[in-house]
Amino acid sequence: MTLPKSNAATDPTPAASDFIRDIVAEELKAGRHKRIVTRFPPEPNGYLHIGHAKSICLNFGIAREFDGVCNLRMDDTNPTKEDIEYVDSIQADVRWLVSGWADRVLALKKVGDTRGRGVLAAESGNSGLEPFYASDYFAQLYEYAVALIRAGKAYVCDLSPEETDHYRGAPDRPGQESPWRNRPVEENLDLFRRMKAGEFPDGTRTLRAKIDMASPNIWLRDPVLYRIRHAAHHHTGDQWCIYPMYDFAHCLSDSLEGISHSICTLEFEVHRPLYDWILEQLPIPQPRPHQFEFARLSLSFTVMSKRKLLQLVQENRVTGWDDPRMPTLAGLRRRGITPAAIRDFCAMIGVTKYNSLTDVAVLEHAIRDDLNRRALRRLAVLRPLKVVLTNYPEGKTEELDAVNNPEDAAAGTRKVPFSRVLYIETDDFLEAPPPKFFRLRPGGEVRLKYAYIIKCDEVVKDASGKVTELRCTADLDSKTGGTTAGRKVKGTIHWVSAAHAIDAEVRLYDRLFTVPEPDAEGDFKQHLNPHSLEVVTARAEPSLRDARPEGRYQFERLGYFCLDFDSQPSAPRPRLVFNRTIALKDTWAKEARKG
Ligand code: ATP
Ligand code: MG
Repeated sequence: MTLPKSNAATDPTPAASDFIRDIVAEELKAGRHKRIVTRFPPEPNGYLHIGHAKSICLNFGIAREFDGVCNLRMDDTNPTKEDIEYVDSIQADVRWLVSGWADRVLALKKVGDTRGRGVLAAESGNSGLEPFYASDYFAQLYEYAVALIRAGKAYVCDLSPEETDHYRGAPDRPGQESPWRNRPVEENLDLFRRMKAGEFPDGTRTLRAKIDMASPNIWLRDPVLYRIRHAAHHHTGDQWCIYPMYDFAHCLSDSLEGISHSICTLEFEVHRPLYDWILEQLPIPQPRPHQFEFARLSLSFTVMSKRKLLQLVQENRVTGWDDPRMPTLAGLRRRGITPAAIRDFCAMIGVTKYNSLTDVAVLEHAIRDDLNRRALRRLAVLRPLKVVLTNYPEGKTEELDAVNNPEDAAAGTRKVPFSRVLYIETDDFLEAPPPKFFRLRPGGEVRLKYAYIIKCDEVVKDASGKVTELRCTADLDSKTGGTTAGRKVKGTIHWVSAAHAIDAEVRLYDRLFTVPEPDAEGDFKQHLNPHSLEVVTARAEPSLRDARPEGRYQFERLGYFCLDFDSQPSAPRPRLVFNRTIALKDTWAKEARKG
């Protein structure tokens, strides 16, 4: 697989054109819209995931490129599944993802303004603003429903939910008209008013559109527009006991907010005739919004549906929605992945009309590419093995120069302490190594990064035969500037000075699932990777004591790491916790080749 190299850490994320952007450009040219207004409309029934990022990048990206705005709207018409915790997390995640890229086009509304008028978050300094809420339009939606009834286009139906399903038929079987379909308008108006007043229990009546029970499109077979739900709503409280269905609320919310392009995923393509039908029946302003569909993101080795992610959280398979193994934006953020890397990934995969499975390696490539450019290099040893340099003076410490980031000269250099007793990675020594093992072996030589070439003279073991210490000699002229500095040995390894190193808890994450398509077959949870988290106590160079929460670090030869918020850097007993964002190399690719 060859992947494009991008430089989006510093540049605005580039976006190639796609069929939706082409349509927008054409419509603008034809003068069909005064201004481009898109929206990102999550239902607050879970945290946002990487699939939502694709939609955010598309909707905010279009607004950004065509000088428009993008409304953040809570699509909150289903009170029983929604929660204020989700509303808050969605806002935080959207702001995080667009920050520094499209925050200029993020439109919110003044607190309490229910008329759907946006203001740009960037210009208003964010104070007193909140997202749009579909539930703010409940009063207008009710009036629209009344207008449909008056026009003879909607009726109150007394069929039970099961009967309604049965009467609807199937794609290959025509539907059957409800016995309540031809109720007089006055009776419908009265019943609908009483539904709203709370006179009837849940499930006893619905309001339905009167369209065509024989339509080949099942969504046009008198779809339900309103249902009774005696449930408190996180935003409107106990004000309502009837709630509009998605199809009724969505197109009208779009119209109320002046949306020009309503972009959603392909499974809504079959809903588009209903979207248009509802808008055509009502006296709403021109130009009307239009719906466009694109292929949703599916990513290998993960699950994406909020329902499944909720199960992982509720069954404690992960530590929460922001567990660094989760594909949620909160999880990716905690894992150390930057918004720029996610936006790069979205630009790489593009926007099409065909559903497909995206290889998670594409995301991993974007993450490595981004972190390689920004991460500060540090030395840390995850599984320490003691090395004593027998010819190095006791009590001596040298401060060696080390480059912070070879990709970025501006990142400068730092001093790393070196002394007689060191730790190297246990894996970097083998007593009986296979061919092409260029690290340390008995009698062999290796270079310590930024320091000397050392030779292993003696292997010390405990009673069980486990290697506990290596006794080595250093070529004291082989450091930078020394007479043998240019001497070549095959391997270079990382190390820390035992006397100066600090302890750090390091959480090593791996893919959450062991198979490319966990929900293809059976229960997705049976494919959970039992080794998706390993915790080690690492020894790290002392400068990491000053690691910053927003910092990105490459532990040399190991991977990219960030500070977890479980850390307490300034406590009486400092505790450092690092998350491994990603290993330097794709170990799974090697597995796949072996298999
Ligand atoms: P899920 O199936 O994960 O519960 P959803 O579609 O119900 O997701 P919403 O909150 O309704 O989630 O989604 C908000 C917006 O994000 C919608 O416009 C939806 O089309 C888009 N979206 C959701 N999942 C994906 C995805 N995997 N790829 C691209 N866009 C997505
Ligand atoms: Mg949805």
